[in-house]
Amino acid sequence: MMKEKGLLIVLSGPSGVGKGTVRKELFSQPDITFEYSISMTTRVPREGEVDGVDYFFKSREEFEKLIEQDRLLEYAEFVGNYYGTPVDYVRDTINDGRDVFLEIEVQGARQIRDKFPEGLFIFLAPPSLSELENRLIHRGTESSHVIANRVETAKKELEMMNLYDYVVENDQVKKASERIKAIVVAEHLRRERV
Ligand code: 5GP
Repeated sequence: MMKEKGLLIVLSGPSGVGKGTVRKELFSQPDITFEYSISMTTRVPREGEVDGVDYFFKSREEFEKLIEQDRLLEYAEFVGNYYGTPVDYVRDTINDGRDVFLEIEVQGARQIRDKFPEGLFIFLAPPSLSELENRLIHRGTESSHVIANRVETAKKELEMMNLYDYVVENDQVKKASERIKAIVVAEHLRRERV
């Protein structure tokens, strides 16, 4: 019998909505059954970030080579930096019957929607846009220019909600992560029936 393929789970949503925090909460739980795909980026590491754990940090030249060689499932330029998903890791893991979890911005999610429609697309939504702005400001890691840019991007990103299978509101990190786990379980059951 052919091995059942794993699910490609895509968590996306506007910048500052808390995707990273929800993802970390999910992966801190011992019963988590999916695997995190570590992205490539040209962004400089933030304090405490580790190469090969948080991201694979690449130069622009290295990243452009990966694009040329078709080694990325998707990639996007976001606020001046490239971000992308390594295709080999995703393909191998799914073919091995294990679920892969991506946490990416919306342009990348859209590319996967076109290339890989059987993926499970989850949009993480903020309780409100003003709250989103507050969160970005209080995070304190970005300049006001970058914040304004990110809020503008976020407004456009919210319009893309309709392309997703599920919308999960991030009112509380723990609740949001529980909802995502429940969606994955339900989705497996639903697909097994087909
Ligand atoms: P940050 O610089 O805050 O770590 O990430 C900025 C944005 O890039 C976030 O919305 C994050 O989800 C997104 N991101 C991280 N990895 C990838 C990726 O591989 N592809 C795409 N398209 N976006 C990514």
